[in-house]
Amino acid sequence: MIKVAKFGGSSVANAEQFAKVRQIVQSDPSRKFIVVSACGKEYKEDHKVTDLLYLCHAHLKYGVTYEPIFSMVENKYRSIAEELHLKTDLDEEFRKIRSIMKKDLSEDYLVSRGEYLTAILMAEYLDFVFLDASKVIRFKYDGSIDLDYTAHVINEYAHQSKGIVVPGFYGALPNGVIRVMSRGGSDITGSVLANAIDADVYENWTDVSGFFMADPRIIDHPLQIPRINYNELREMSYMGANVLHDDAVFPVKMKNIPINVRNTNEPDNPGTMIMEDCTEYDRKNPPHFITGITGRKDYTVITIVRNQSVSGISFLRRLLSVFEEFNVAVETLPTTVDTVSVIVASESVSHCLYEIIGRIKEDLAPEDLHMEDHVAIVAIVGRGMKQQPGISGKLISEFGNNGINIKVLSQTNDERCIEVGVLNRDFEKAIQCIYDKFIKEEGEQV
Ligand code: ASP
Repeated sequence: MIKVAKFGGSSVANAEQFAKVRQIVQSDPSRKFIVVSACGKEYKEDHKVTDLLYLCHAHLKYGVTYEPIFSMVENKYRSIAEELHLKTDLDEEFRKIRSIMKKDLSEDYLVSRGEYLTAILMAEYLDFVFLDASKVIRFKYDGSIDLDYTAHVINEYAHQSKGIVVPGFYGALPNGVIRVMSRGGSDITGSVLANAIDADVYENWTDVSGFFMADPRIIDHPLQIPRINYNELREMSYMGANVLHDDAVFPVKMKNIPINVRNTNEPDNPGTMIMEDCTEYDRKNPPHFITGITGRKDYTVITIVRNQSVSGISFLRRLLSVFEEFNVAVETLPTTVDTVSVIVASESVSHCLYEIIGRIKEDLAPEDLHMEDHVAIVAIVGRGMKQQPGISGKLISEFGNNGINIKVLSQTNDERCIEVGVLNRDFEKAIQCIYDKFIKEEGEQV
């Protein structure tokens, strides 16, 4: 059994968190490949090291002194090293970073130093080998990550007895130049390593015990999701439930490696298991019909009534091409015979809504066109809903019972997700009533 364990910023925020990480790693000998983030916030008003490093770079670029900010970074790592009695030569590390900063303005190099420093300290603390991400994560010039390259390098380490620690979030271009991923990218590093060594599981340690069935800011102590499949995860995260970086899924999904989201502060909690296929586990332990309820506010609905003289065959294509032309993603598209509602995030059309409408009028001469703002979409996600007559019926009547008007409704043939459009002001109430009815009250038997 081989596990890749990635520890996020809050899991390595200070010496106390480092100690929790060591306990977790030492409690399971299969945790041999460790990925770490830069130190996150220790308390609410604190700053993430990566944010500070971006700020240093901005100061450097405009010739404003960056020392006070850089010292905050330096102090964080020095106090971890001091408290844990580590011997890593931080004087030398900081001297090197400062001298490169003076010569070279590379933002990517500078912001990658947070992960680098966490990893060298963590490697010493765990008595593991430090392996620089610039040696294992290789970007192609098109920006994608070369998975074969990582597999080739990492396999040399797969059989050695000591574990390794790799900094997350960055890698190198073929010419050796450091390049960072998008924010939260350490999740991707862990996933790429798990793919490369064919790990049995990719553990993603953070500060929540996995995914909740609904947003805890709306539902008081929602239940945790024990298992979720990758498709459900996509629906949940797209609509707003974010724990993992989106791009972290692909490298493990392609090899059918499960992701286990765990909490460093609550290591006995089994967290959420994300897997390609949950069937075998579901048989033993049937899931709720609903895996999770999520959603987002602030959509704009543009409803178009087709002019009978415009061909029904080309209508949708011509309508959607207007949105494509303005680079606006269409979220969902409920239709009837002659009417189409195009739902888009209000933010995405804030600068071009009237141009889009002008273009639709020009190209399609609709019989009628109207718009509505302040619409929210509530997404009810669940593999357990498939082939279960009555779920949407109960759902719709629950909205009715609670006086919530449904503006739009859509479900695809895989029956995995039902999206309901309501007014922004009804959003929280809608989530609460579905949660109460389907999860709290009826539990497993709908
Ligand atoms: N430290 C980086 C960030 O704050 C990457 C990560 O934590 O995954 O985005």
